[in-house]
Amino acid sequence: MTELIYYEDQYKKELEAKILKIEGNRIVLDKTIFIPQTNTEPGDYGKITNMKIAGSKKEDKDIWHIFQKPINFNEEDTLKLELDWNKRLYAMRLHSALHLLAGPFDRNFTKRAVAGAIKANHAYLVFKEEIEDELIDKSLEQANKDIQNNLEIKSNWDEKREGFRWTKVGDYAPIPDGGLHVKNTKEIGKITLVSKEMDQGKHKLTISIE
Ligand SMILES: [Zn+2]
Repeated sequence: MTELIYYEDQYKKELEAKILKIEGNRIVLDKTIFIPQTNTEPGDYGKITNMKIAGSKKEDKDIWHIFQKPINFNEEDTLKLELDWNKRLYAMRLHSALHLLAGPFDRNFTKRAVAGAIKANHAYLVFKEEIEDELIDKSLEQANKDIQNNLEIKSNWDEKREGFRWTKVGDYAPIPDGGLHVKNTKEIGKITLVSKEMDQGKHKLTISIE
């Protein structure tokens, strides 16, 4: 089982950890700062003892770190983890931007996003119906105002459901979420709308950050 240091301190860029398991060019460590890739989040990149990783993946309670090249490590070895911090920080800012933007749609116009995802350079929200331009403009304006108002962003474990997390931006309703966020909206920067498109009756809004 891997201790998930990224949930304890999402700003930690380096860590020493011990190898628990090895399989081919992938390893499980006793703890990690690399959040695994999921369908909705890009996951972390970086180096482990100067060797680049191609990413990490969660299987049961283990996080497997996958190397780009063959490795020459042994169980119990202590390795040094170094996060690709620029990528991580950008992903956290984008993720927080997406949650923040969902807030005014829900609170001010009772339009709740039914899906969302974070990609390398953009993120998107999906609504189950077409959203009028005016509501999009107003929600975007409110979210950018909220950024200036330094709202706190907090994530916590669900008290009853094991392994389940929530994230709350300011006073907006908490959203179920296993990802990582910046601690304050001021770290997001500015949210810009990249595109809005209808797809099979659903409205997809794609955003980026400056
Ligand atoms: Zn999320």
